[in-house]
Amino acid sequence: PLVLGIETSCDETGVGIVRGRTLLANVIASSMDEHARYGGVVPEVAARAHLEAIEPTLQAALAEAGVTLDELDAIAVTSGPGLAGALMVGIGAAKGLALATGKPLYGVNHLVGHVGADLLRPPAAVGTAAGSTAGTPAVSDDRGELELPTIALLVSGGHTSLLLVRDLIDDVELLGETIDDAAGEAFDKVARLLGLQYPGGPQIDRAAATGDPRAIRFPRGLTAPKDRERHRFDFSFSGLKTAVARTVEAARDRGDEVPTADVAASFREAVADVLITKALDACAEHGVPRLLLGGGVVANARIRGLAEERCAAAGVALRIPPLSLCTDNGAMIASVGAQLVAAGRAPSPLDFAADSTLPVTEVQAV
Ligand code: ATP
Ligand code: MG
Ligand code: FE
Repeated sequence: PLVLGIETSCDETGVGIVRGRTLLANVIASSMDEHARYGGVVPEVAARAHLEAIEPTLQAALAEAGVTLDELDAIAVTSGPGLAGALMVGIGAAKGLALATGKPLYGVNHLVGHVGADLLRPPAAVGTAAGSTAGTPAVSDDRGELELPTIALLVSGGHTSLLLVRDLIDDVELLGETIDDAAGEAFDKVARLLGLQYPGGPQIDRAAATGDPRAIRFPRGLTAPKDRERHRFDFSFSGLKTAVARTVEAARDRGDEVPTADVAASFREAVADVLITKALDACAEHGVPRLLLGGGVVANARIRGLAEERCAAAGVALRIPPLSLCTDNGAMIASVGAQLVAAGRAPSPLDFAADSTLPVTEVQAV
């Protein structure tokens, strides 16, 4: 089926078009620059930016795919989780389009979308995605079909979630998630402590390249034996952030120069270590020798590198979609929409609402 997908859950306005598993267009406008001076995404600013970007992004996607609205089989849109005001802009636009064209509308779970991104190919034709130029994918595009079940680790500015996916549209289980900051948020906050610019991830990656990852032993949140029971697959990054703050303050109090490169490298190592350790623990515990990574934090050089090393050692097949499909985009929402259409699912009712805390088990808005 030919499906158009709209994504506006955070700071990316994304419109993608797919035919089944074939990616035809993926256009992204990001308001990231507008949030830079605040050091994080400001919900009202994001919502207004979506309003301005949605129409031109839609037109660009249709042009890139070379299709008209008439030809579509369905329209899909992110219904949650995400920023309520931002979600509402995309949902409003999608409902308007569905009413005007008479096409069926599917409200889609954003996190499931991150997994659905992996179905798409060939990503060679992916459109220009702002800020998604950080290197070539570690795994090539001819990586074959996504095999299920798989463990999925989704890491972004708003999420740090570990999923067990047995079936994309029928059986997604949340194994664990962050109990405080998301991994990307931790990168952004630590960058700020170090006087680096927003978004912090790329800046820390750059600073870390010349640092010693063993210079400072930062805490690995929720990995103590007492956390094994209740928080086995949960994450916590606020203690790590505080530890970095103390290190920085201590250096300044002594009148020393802050060892930025070493702090960045040691912080990055702590995040990568805990993410990959827990993801591989989940693979082992559930007997699933497959790990899928998604979300903007996957751009991180050390997270990718450590995942490759440890997956190879553990005999776990690692999949990382191209970065333009890892960061928020409309094509991943269209991809899940296409799966719902192909499975013969009834469309969502036209009165479904944005759900900023939509659980991952609710794949489609009803
Ligand atoms: P959502 O959480 O809804 O998916 P988001 O906009 O917060 O949305 P993304 O756009 O996928 O998430 O990712 C942005 C985050 O990724 C930011 O926190 C940014 O610092 C982080 N990031 C980007 N590049 C890197 C990198 N090289 N290393 C670590 N983090 C990175
Ligand atoms: Mg973003
Ligand atoms: Fe996302």
